[in-house]
This record gives sequence, structure tokens and C-alpha cells, in this order.
Amino acid sequence: MNASSKSGSGKSGSGFKMIVAGGGIGGLSAALGLANKGCTVTVLEQAAQFGEIGAGIQIGPNAFHAMDYLGVGQAGRDKAVYIDKLVMMDATTGGMVAQMPVDEPFRQRFGNPYAVIHRADLHGVLHDACMAHPAITLVNTQRVMGYENTGSGARVATESGQVFEGDGIIGCDGVRSKIREQLTGGDELRLSGHVAYRAVLPIEQMPEDMRWNAATLWAGPKCHMVHYPLQGWKTFNLVATFQTDVSDVGTNEPGTREEILSRFPNVVDRVRKVLETPTEWRRWVLGDREPIENWTDGSVTLLGDAAHPTHQYFAQGACMALEDSVCLADKIEHCGGDLHRAFQEYQAERIVRAYRVVLSSRMLGKVYHAQGVERLIRNSVMGAKTPGQFYDGLEWLYGGTGLNSGLVQTETAA
Ligand SMILES: Cc1cc2nc3c(=O)[nH]c(=O)nc-3n(C[C@H](O)[C@H](O)[C@H](O)COP(=O)(O)OP(=O)(O)OC[C@H]3O[C@@H](n4cnc5c(N)ncnc54)[C@H](O)[C@@H]3O)c2cc1C
Repeated sequence: MNASSKSGSGKSGSGFKMIVAGGGIGGLSAALGLANKGCTVTVLEQAAQFGEIGAGIQIGPNAFHAMDYLGVGQAGRDKAVYIDKLVMMDATTGGMVAQMPVDEPFRQRFGNPYAVIHRADLHGVLHDACMAHPAITLVNTQRVMGYENTGSGARVATESGQVFEGDGIIGCDGVRSKIREQLTGGDELRLSGHVAYRAVLPIEQMPEDMRWNAATLWAGPKCHMVHYPLQGWKTFNLVATFQTDVSDVGTNEPGTREEILSRFPNVVDRVRKVLETPTEWRRWVLGDREPIENWTDGSVTLLGDAAHPTHQYFAQGACMALEDSVCLADKIEHCGGDLHRAFQEYQAERIVRAYRVVLSSRMLGKVYHAQGVERLIRNSVMGAKTPGQFYDGLEWLYGGTGLNSGLVQTETAA
């Protein structure tokens, strides 16, 4: 076990002692939000080290609003690459379907940028802030197995046989959450048949005529490929997704060039050329879960993918986890010492917004993978949209963090 603890911690403000299960983007942002409100927080992470996979992530203005609230907005902005637009290309013809600028007028409208960032950088910003916070303790190699409400709070047991007790438990243990499993009685992972391959290419391996300052999506029949620059333009992030009839569950397994190429049979040469380039692909079988109307059991609640796992098509899963953390922190600050009330208000406020993302992501998967006449309709409808029409349609998402109280202040505006 490796526990990184800082001196000077103690109860103040709301004064709750909180246990966070899982140290991903959701768990670390939750810890930060709670500690900023006066809680003392212990984060239990199953892995031997806190970290993230080597891949990119897109983050919308709503994520930056949330990071501002958590006090890490500028640190995140310093690591990001600022793309000019989101582009959809038709992978069967090579023609452009639509583009949405995310340049200055977009940033003005939504108060923060749309950006891409390496996951390790985003996670690192949160990790640094947690390490620097005197009220947060990060503990590795602790796989949470289950929880128990005690009447005065709750406790979790870990695989190593240890028990951690607090006033409240936040399950941030991802799509295969043990906390959720117990809380729901074990709801099924919904296997979509979608498989994602990921790779990061050194910039010089990306064809020069495709080094666009954009998050670009090549939409093909039952498949699509996404690419964007990362790490100060040193690398390009690639994600190639296809539909198949997999029934297994896989995470971060080695993938093969043969499989990926066989799933993109009818795409233009420039897409194939990119898919042929990586020497190493990692493979994920994607799943989400049906929405549920309750995330809370007494002194235990869920956050991030544990609460609302989603497909990546809206590029919002991590953004939602960051938003959850803001909302939870806000509710705890204003609950008058009643943690159960805070959890109930938190889930009531988050459920509609987070599941709107989950269901919209499923729908977007169909749009991206359209074929035949559906593809023609998609191209016609999306191609006719003006930037203003795109922005109006996204106001609900990017216009805030989803906090009804609207209290979010950005670091830059403050
Ligand atoms: C291909 C792909 C692309 C994506 N692109 C985007 C994007 O562009 N933008 C975006 O916002 N989102 C994106 N997402 C979604 C995003 O990655 C997730 O929503 C986000 O990482 C969820 O964070 P989390 O902390 O809730 O869960 P996780 O990242 O899964 O973290 C869970 C943590 O808990 C730990 N853990 C698990 N079980 C236990 C246990 N029992 N005990 C203790 N610790 C445990 C894990 O080791 C991990 O550290 C994408 C997802 C995929 C698959």
C-alpha cells in the first residue's frame, strides 16, 4: 500500500469525513470538490499507481467551467490544445459533411474553449491539486469490494482486508463499479457491439495533408475514425470505432491491424492509410448501462461512469464526471450538515442532464455509423447547419455545468 498523506488535515467547514472509491478523473475531481468545502477525503484506488491511459480526450466548455470551480481551470487550459473546429467527413467519399467552428466566437458565447488534452495531463492536473490539498489522502492498491451503511455513516471493505469508514462514500469506480453493483443489486452492462481502437501517433507519422487543427470524425458505414492533435502538436490521437457482434468485455487489450482494417472496408484511401500506420493499437469493447432513477443508498452515492457510463460519441463522459463533482460539492456545502439530503439533491439535479448525454450518445453512434439513405439524410441535415444553429443546439450542454443554482464562477471571470 502506498498512502500519500499530508499534515494539517482536519474537520472544518462542512466537516464530513468522506471516502472516495476510485481515483480516475471522477474520483480525483470529487475529492477536490469535497475537500474545497471542508471535508477530509480519502481516495482508494485499486491500481498500484494513480494514472490514466495514454490517449487523448476532448473537453467542452462545460468541463472547463467545472475545472474553474474546482480551482484547476488554468492548469487544465495550460495543457490543452485549442482546436479551431469540429469536422465531420464522409469516409466513403472523402467529402466534408459539416464543420462547427470552435474559435473565438464559440469561446465568447460559451465562456470557455473547446479543447483536446492528453488524459494523463488532465488526470495529472487533478492529481497535483489533490496532492497539494492538506485534507486529501490518496491510497493505492486498495480495491473496494463493497460497502455497508452503519447508521452514523458508511464503511467500505477492500480486497486487502482493510476497512475504511466515513460519514459518506462516493463510488467513482468506473463502468464496472463494485459500489454500483451492490447498490443496484447488479444491473447488466449493456454491450453495444461497438469496439474502439486507440493509438497515439508521433506527428511526423500523420500524413501532412491531414494534420488539421480540428477534432475530425470520418463517418463510415458501421464505423468511424477520429483524430486530433495532442501534447503541443507532438502527437496525434487516433480512435477508430466499429460495430460488430462481440459478446465479451474487453478493456485496454492489444488490438491487431488486421482486425481494424477488416472493419473499415469501404473507406477512402487516406483513411485506410492512417489506419495502417500505428504499430500498436489498444482495443476496448464498449458498453454503457440503462439509466437508473436512484444512485444513492443512505450514506453512499455514485459519480462519473459508476453512475452514468456512456459511449464516447458526445465526448462528454469525463466532462460529466467533472460536473458531478461540482454539483456534489455545492450540495454538500448547502445541506446544513445533512449528508443524505445533499446526496438526494445531487442525484436529483444530475440525473436528467447526465442521462441526456448517455441517450444522446447512443443516438449519435447511429448518426456516425449511418449507411444507405440514412447516410444521405445525415449528410444533408448536418451539412445545412450554420454555426449558430449548431451552437443553439448545444446551449444546454456547453452553457453551464448543469448546476441549477447557476453559481459557477470561472477563474478568469472571478
Ligand atoms: C474511446 C473513448 C473515448 C472517450 N472520449 C471522451 C472524450 O473525448 N471526452 C470525455 O469527456 N469523455 C470521453 N470518454 C469517457 C471518459 O473516458 C469516461 O467517462 C471517464 O474517464 C470516466 O471517469 P471515471 O473517473 O468516472 O471512471 P474511470 O476513468 O473508469 O476511473 C475509475 C477509477 O476507479 C478505479 N477503480 C475501479 N474499480 C475500483 C475498485 N473496485 N476499487 C478501487 N478503485 C477502483 C480504476 O482503476 C480507475 O482509476 C471516452 C471513453 C472512451 C472509452
